[in-house]
Amino acid sequence: MFAKKSLGQNFLMHRQTAERIADAAHLSPEDTVLEIGPGTGMLTAPLLARAGKVVAVEADAALAEKLREMFANEIAAEKLKLVEGDVRAFDPSSISGAYAVVANIPYYITGEIIRQFLEALHQPRSMTLLVQKEVAERVAPRRRSGQTRGEKESLLSISVKTYGTPHYEFTVPRGAFKPAPKVDSAVLSIADIRNPFRSEAEKQHFFAVLHAGFAHKRKKLVKNLALAFPDADVSAALRAAKLDPDTRAEDVPLPAWHALAKTLLYI
Ligand code: SAM
Repeated sequence: MFAKKSLGQNFLMHRQTAERIADAAHLSPEDTVLEIGPGTGMLTAPLLARAGKVVAVEADAALAEKLREMFANEIAAEKLKLVEGDVRAFDPSSISGAYAVVANIPYYITGEIIRQFLEALHQPRSMTLLVQKEVAERVAPRRRSGQTRGEKESLLSISVKTYGTPHYEFTVPRGAFKPAPKVDSAVLSIADIRNPFRSEAEKQHFFAVLHAGFAHKRKKLVKNLALAFPDADVSAALRAAKLDPDTRAEDVPLPAWHALAKTLLYI
């Protein structure tokens, strides 16, 4: 089988890895799972064994055809719903009730997928994703025992923490895939997903502040914010958030971003 690079196809080779990913999602027969990119069905099988229902969205028509043959019984029993198409066009509201996302995702749309589901009107209760190791580490640094180094935040890590609780589950070496990608992967879970905003305007404002704060990596937070908000407001916001004027965005934890957004006026 030829893997399509353009569709980010790196297939899991070992059932054991797929089982471990499915275990990390803590599924029960009451659960509905959304799988993005079922591919050859390596992860689909253990998901079907653990959850009550699986909805799987696959963009590759040839793979979808094979999956329809492979899982004909599960499809007939309505345990598996196979959707052929681009996940970015998939509306999560079409799933009735609570659901969890579990997937070995195509890496070319990692950011888009995380954002699409965290910001959805019908959010999943959790996400368990195989992503590039570097992405997992950026969102949820692994704590090595005895180390107390300060956690560095990024636009992605704060965005994820805004909606849920990320955790680095385990590393999956590149050799576990065919074709092997250039980098190692890791399973990133995001639990307790919720919407912390009371309105769309509040959300837009929060992310405007976050994007302004991270706009220029080398600049201090105060300088970055001053490019988007009046100087006096920025000083007041830093005081309200109890932040030192020398602080950089990467050192600002989530509660302080909420404090900054609360004090800065909407633009
Ligand atoms: N789940 C399989 C596994 O673990 O072996 C395949 C994982 S592979 C990294 C990514 C899968 O996502 C491929 O099957 C690919 O065809 C599919 N895919 C790529 N882009 C997609 C998109 N925009 N929407 C839905 N599926 C997509």
